[in-house]
Amino acid sequence: MDLKLLKKEDNKLSFILKGTNYAFVNTLRRIFTTEVPTLAVKNVTIVKNSSALFDEVIAHRLGLIPLKTDLTAYNLTENCTCKGKGCPKCQVSLVLKAEGPLTVYASDLKSQDPKVKPVYGKMPIVKLLKGQELEFEALVTLGNAKDHAKYSSCHVYYRGIPDVSVDSDNKAKQCVKACEGLLDGDSKKLVVKDLLRWNERYEEICEEIGAEIKNSEKDFLFHVESWGQLEPLEILNHGSDILDTKLDEFITLLNKSK
Ligand SMILES: [Zn+2]
Repeated sequence: MDLKLLKKEDNKLSFILKGTNYAFVNTLRRIFTTEVPTLAVKNVTIVKNSSALFDEVIAHRLGLIPLKTDLTAYNLTENCTCKGKGCPKCQVSLVLKAEGPLTVYASDLKSQDPKVKPVYGKMPIVKLLKGQELEFEALVTLGNAKDHAKYSSCHVYYRGIPDVSVDSDNKAKQCVKACEGLLDGDSKKLVVKDLLRWNERYEEICEEIGAEIKNSEKDFLFHVESWGQLEPLEILNHGSDILDTKLDEFITLLNKSK
């Protein structure tokens, strides 16, 4: 395999992975999206709620707030030393007490652990009119998206690197012109110069001109977009550790069964 990093932003990472196959890139996608854990609100104890929203709606909205996650500080409840009872190593509380008139934002949640806080503080939770009150305690746990989508760490997508071919220099010229500088070459070899900006629209334009597009089944453009709880590199590192652990478990079982 060969890897070339194309773009790295706070919440987004794009790279080319060469010399692999669909099975492997899809394994990575599934592990990154469903098995890398993050913190999210699990249970809410409502003390007072005279807002316009039902308790369930407020609890649902709290569940969808991405929270900054430190994977070294918290355990999955089922793997914790407390054996699932709940302790400071596997759960943390967010509390709120507010009275209208005001809008309650994610940044108003007071956390037991200052490191665990909403990624996007300006997410509105509810508007309170004069005299309306809201008071609750939200219990946050580490979980993964296999159990609930609110624990999802990222969005991952990939595609085979496109190979554009034409049977004449005239068609090649038309394709290069129509693709606004993203494509270069002649009928012998057309190369996509900017894979990050290349999309299906350009493929349709080229196909209308008479080009044939084939997507590679061994070289891929891979994107990871974090929802903000973890940095993309943390997701990749932790996800790779999970895959490693699964393979170790498989070998151990295999050796035991001999
Ligand atoms: Zn615990």
